[in-house]
Amino acid sequence: MPQLSKRISTLNGDGSDGWGVFYKARALKAEGRDILELTIGEHDIGTDQAILDEMHRAASAGHTGYAMVPGVDALRDRIASRVSNRTGVATTRDNVLVTPGGQAALFSAHMAVLAPGETGLFIDPYYATYPGTIRAASGIPHAIATRAEDAFLPSFDQIDGAARDTNARSLLVNTPNNPTGTLYGAETLDGIARAAAANDLWVISDEVYDTQVWEGAHVSPRALPGMADRTMVVGSMSKSHAMTGSRIGWIVAPEEAVSRLIDLATATTYGVPGYIQDGALFALEQGDAVEAHVAEPFRRRRALVLDRLARQSVVTAIPSRGAMYLMLDIRKTGLDGETFAYRLLDAHRIAVMPGESFGAAAAGHVRVALTVADDRLSHAIDTLCGFAADLSEARVASGTMA
Ligand code: PLP
Repeated sequence: MPQLSKRISTLNGDGSDGWGVFYKARALKAEGRDILELTIGEHDIGTDQAILDEMHRAASAGHTGYAMVPGVDALRDRIASRVSNRTGVATTRDNVLVTPGGQAALFSAHMAVLAPGETGLFIDPYYATYPGTIRAASGIPHAIATRAEDAFLPSFDQIDGAARDTNARSLLVNTPNNPTGTLYGAETLDGIARAAAANDLWVISDEVYDTQVWEGAHVSPRALPGMADRTMVVGSMSKSHAMTGSRIGWIVAPEEAVSRLIDLATATTYGVPGYIQDGALFALEQGDAVEAHVAEPFRRRRALVLDRLARQSVVTAIPSRGAMYLMLDIRKTGLDGETFAYRLLDAHRIAVMPGESFGAAAAGHVRVALTVADDRLSHAIDTLCGFAADLSEARVASGTMA
């Protein structure tokens, strides 16, 4: 076989993607073992039947040919009015490109702003695909490490310093955040906007969890003064409407950027299936109540987990205000997140994601996805806390406590 490109051969950096616990859990499950999986961000409900019926109707009515590459007009209009209403920033169809999911939007946005070899910044902890996405666009990923003690919020100085050091072209941010559940407030957003202006950065704002906000309000960086011209917003219906498998999302960006992004889509995806777009339009037309309904179990389960955690003092949660996850600090056990997660899986058949899967900044933590029924989740958290308490006691007894 002729040699593959360096770009594709090095997409995963050092080759370890941090998903070993997840793969092991799946392998055990395939052997028929009962594994309680709190790993990936997939709802425990499917797409609403009415949305599926609309896709079926649209496909049967003949919407199975090539759809318009930028997205069908009605859907682009609907996304534009949704964004205008939620952010107060005037947005039209010409600011919108429909994409096959948020992931394709993340890739396209980086393709649009990075020349080969230019640096794209992102915040650590991060959604696992970020470095690979930047590499796929021939960029150099550069992580800005945040600290658990700062609730994993980045500061102006950190972003500005990293941008200067690397001569970066872009900054990828994600609020509400996966994996930490943090929601960027006024100070953080102001720091992002000032650092972007000072270093002439594009901000790629991943807002796929914008309907999962439990405390406070989601503010899009695009809504800050002067930011609409340098921000690309990534949206998706995966999380808001439990449509992960339908692969439907969007980019909202300045008009000229969208024109170039349409060129890229023509050369890559050639658009999104028309019947999926019709289903998405129907779903958005149902209004906010549908999104609130999809988000509700995660709101309830977050409260439930916090209540269980309040009964003990070994495991603590990073203060979370959004998204379908909680990041738990297990450092009192003396273990790193990965060792803890493997041992928990072996001892109790409960699978959680090691914090390290999301970057070095989340070492000593594990992420739990709030994606199983309430009673199973309570049981899992109580078991996890009991397991951590035993490890912590053994550590104190053996005198290895720092
Ligand atoms: N961004 C974040 C932060 C995510 O957690 C995910 C999926 O889990 C995505 C983007 C990609 O979502 P999708 O491609 O399904 O829209």
